[in-house]
Amino acid sequence: MTPDLAPETRAFLARRHALYVDGAAQPPARPATLEVTDPATGLPISSIALGEAADVDRAVAAARRALHGPWSRLTADERTRILLEFSRLCDARARQFTELAVLDNGMPRAIAESTAPFCSQFLRYYAGWVSKIAGRTLPSAGMGKRPGELQAYTLREPVGVVGAITPWNYSFGMEMLKIAPALAAGCTLVLKPAEQAPLAALLLAELATEAGVPPGVFNVVTGLGETAGAALAAHPGVDKIAFTGSTEVGRLIVHAAAGNLKRVSLELGGKSPVVVFPDADLAQAIPGIAMAGFLLQGQNCVCGSRVFVHEKIAREVAEGVAAFARNMAIGGGFEPGTMIGPVISREQRDRIERLVATAQPEGARLLTGGRRPREAGWFFEPTVFTDCRPDMTIVREEIFGPVIAIQTFADGDLEAIAAQANDTVYGLSGSVWTRDLATAHRMVRLIDAGQVGVNVHAAMDPTMPFGGNRQSGWGREFGEEGLELYLKTKAVTITW
Ligand code: NAP
Ligand code: MG
Repeated sequence: MTPDLAPETRAFLARRHALYVDGAAQPPARPATLEVTDPATGLPISSIALGEAADVDRAVAAARRALHGPWSRLTADERTRILLEFSRLCDARARQFTELAVLDNGMPRAIAESTAPFCSQFLRYYAGWVSKIAGRTLPSAGMGKRPGELQAYTLREPVGVVGAITPWNYSFGMEMLKIAPALAAGCTLVLKPAEQAPLAALLLAELATEAGVPPGVFNVVTGLGETAGAALAAHPGVDKIAFTGSTEVGRLIVHAAAGNLKRVSLELGGKSPVVVFPDADLAQAIPGIAMAGFLLQGQNCVCGSRVFVHEKIAREVAEGVAAFARNMAIGGGFEPGTMIGPVISREQRDRIERLVATAQPEGARLLTGGRRPREAGWFFEPTVFTDCRPDMTIVREEIFGPVIAIQTFADGDLEAIAAQANDTVYGLSGSVWTRDLATAHRMVRLIDAGQVGVNVHAAMDPTMPFGGNRQSGWGREFGEEGLELYLKTKAVTITW
């Protein structure tokens, strides 16, 4: 069911999209296009241009010119005003962003509606940082100089031209995590959005120009990862790559970046633990656990896919989560009440099915779900397995679908429980459910992840650093740490 779309959404979908370079839509070097489809129906909704290495060259050159041009000459106040105006325009287009996210990503409308204001909030947060970027005066006494005979200080400078490569799951939400701090720091950027949800990136670029971001500061090259993405990651004119996506592609990015030793930040996959102690408030924990696993069909890097429950309450929790799953309305994002939309593609749906098919032969017990609820569109039921063990495929692999695998633990010391929770190559997120302060504080320290919640899973806020340990990534986005990714330090000594 597609409701009446806003006229601007219809017009946007009907366009023959180009690349966005130097402040304007520009055709790609070769006239190839890719169909954009609605995962709820599998039907085409629009098309994008397939940019390639030559287009990346052009966009990087534009970003380089803009870096040394008008963008570097703005005062902090002028840059702040532009980011605030960009934020205002994003708010004004919230309906269009929401509709694009439902159609392009398959987001349930309620999630799409909360992603649009998150983007403008993120921009406002980083707009506030622009005027706080400052070096330090240092008490250097080098070269036998006395106070007053030497001045030593640091300057904070933008790292330069940024290549941003992003995934489809939250599309413009993910893109904004890079755009806002990069612009705040004074960098310029070339964004390669995901091929499967590329549309909102083009709208963001247009709004940036409308807000006063000078031409060339923010460029978008739509296209494939193996061509446009790889060219950007390897480009000698790019100073930093900010990547969000799979751990597998993250490794390729690191190799590609080695040529000119560009900086790299990586937000990668996860297999996050959810640990439930017997004193937890189950009325709060059960929906919390279910949503940790099923939000956005489990297509979440922070997805709480490995649940550990104390054996005393294991049955109650498993049945509670399964009952929650059975009550989740499955449907297209525009259908009223939808909690589970489609997954992004047929390939992804098939991959989820393949992984789920390993569970019962390996000894897991299916409590609910496990099937496609309908044939049209790429849907998969929210699925709960119990009797899981650490060596099972569904416990080890990031599924990126709505699948929760439950294991149990017995009374014992917290270090042993945390060791179970940490038994993964990832380290992105985790949560602990308990009313006991000592358990909470100790588990927070023991879980090896970039983010831990107590009685909440994966709380996100622009002020809170976010990123992974181990194979979940390098660096932290959000907050002051997120700005640091786009700044470098120059040490200055002046004698007279
Ligand atoms: P992906 O396949 O790794 O793709 C991510 C981006 O990289 C896409 O734009 C992709 O282009 C591009 N790409 C693919 N191959 C490339 C190459 N050789 N060189 C340069 N770029 C290349 O990930 P995805 O399937 O879109 O997203 C799911 C993954 O992202 C999951 O593993 C998830 O955990 C992770 N994720 C992590 C976070 C986090 O913050 N930690 C957030 C969200 C998602 P194409 O679109 O053309 O393939
Ligand atoms: Mg799509």
